[in-house]
Amino acid sequence: MHKKEILFKMEKSSQNLSIPVELLGLANIEIIEVKMGRDDEIFIKVKSTKDEIPCRQCGKPTKVHGKGRTLKIRHLPILGKKTFIEITPMRGICDQCDDRPSTTQTLSWYEHNARHTKAYEQYILLSIKNSTITDASIKEEISEGTIQNILNKYIDDEVDWNTIKKLGILGIDEISLKKGYRDFITIITSRIAGKNQILAVLKGRDKVTVKAFFNSIPEKLHKTIIAICCDMYDGYVNAASEVFDDKVAIIVDRFHVAKLYRKALVSLRQQELSRLRKALSKEEYESLKTAIAILVKKQEKYTKHDKKELEKLFAYSPALKAAYRLARQLTSIYNTKHRKKTADKKLTQWIESVHNSDVRCFDGFIETLKKYQDYVINYFVDRNTSGFVEGLNNKFKVAKRRCYGISNLKNFFQRIFLDLTPYYILKRNQFVMAK
Ligand SMILES: [Zn+2]
Repeated sequence: MHKKEILFKMEKSSQNLSIPVELLGLANIEIIEVKMGRDDEIFIKVKSTKDEIPCRQCGKPTKVHGKGRTLKIRHLPILGKKTFIEITPMRGICDQCDDRPSTTQTLSWYEHNARHTKAYEQYILLSIKNSTITDASIKEEISEGTIQNILNKYIDDEVDWNTIKKLGILGIDEISLKKGYRDFITIITSRIAGKNQILAVLKGRDKVTVKAFFNSIPEKLHKTIIAICCDMYDGYVNAASEVFDDKVAIIVDRFHVAKLYRKALVSLRQQELSRLRKALSKEEYESLKTAIAILVKKQEKYTKHDKKELEKLFAYSPALKAAYRLARQLTSIYNTKHRKKTADKKLTQWIESVHNSDVRCFDGFIETLKKYQDYVINYFVDRNTSGFVEGLNNKFKVAKRRCYGISNLKNFFQRIFLDLTPYYILKRNQFVMAK
């Protein structure tokens, strides 16, 4: 645009603004004009200060020859306002290539025909981390499809082994696709130096599938595996031991153990409560409401008042009382810093005391516990090793709900990858991408 034309335009615009170019954080530009749009958007007309237009075919410098079409590129919001950069890129013609191709100049902060700056795309990634695409789409007023495209552009849908130098602790976890259904997916993560990363989202939880994944881990990374944490489940345990032999310790984390014995407790509770509902008068059953709520909501951390309330319920159900006492004993074994050998003995004693009691709800759990006891006690070797498992499991469940179930495993991988990317990296990228 001609200088005179620009001046004329600036005079005509009533809402003429000025913004220091440094504030935009975009390299190789000069601001020509800043305007407010009708809907309070900010339009910033800029031009490139870079002379070179390397040929898109041979990479050699071209001769300037006209201009490309004007691009309106969304950039990071300024003071909460939608912000667009307008640029009319220069074009060049190559004398070196036979067909004399023309090339439109791009700058480092946007791609050919881009609708968003790279910084803005990072900002979108940041806004969907731990959130939903639908939400971000509404807030930013861009389509869900556009957001998905941005996600696809920056986040791989499977692990890139070249980016991984060490694995650390591997965690294998399962989540059900739908509540109460038997369809599972297996999620494999690794944790090193406090950082978690996603390695795979696998369909089902068969040994074959998990084993195939383990076998896909490049050989040189094998020795960087510190331990493998998993559920008390043959598919996982056998896959791990068949691929890694005794070279890697397999740990059944306390979280996975707790999940099982609490499940047994819950089914006994439901059984007992439905028995009591029939056996007791309405008033009697009503008087137990507080106690029931405590059992449902709290996990073994009872106040004095809680205990008093619980006694009312336990008076009607000695079975529940005994089962809860046994569960507390098991939790307390976990809460004590036993050595591996002592833990082994304590677990065996606990199993004994369940056998000697009238409590039968743990029988199935105990069968599993005995089968995997060697792996269960590995937890006591270094209690911190597998402590992240529960936190991650909760994160996956939340992600699943947020993504409205999991229809596409590759997509789910991307979302978990993003969720596990630290905020500071995404924040920093917004400003690095413009340079
Ligand atoms: Zn060329």
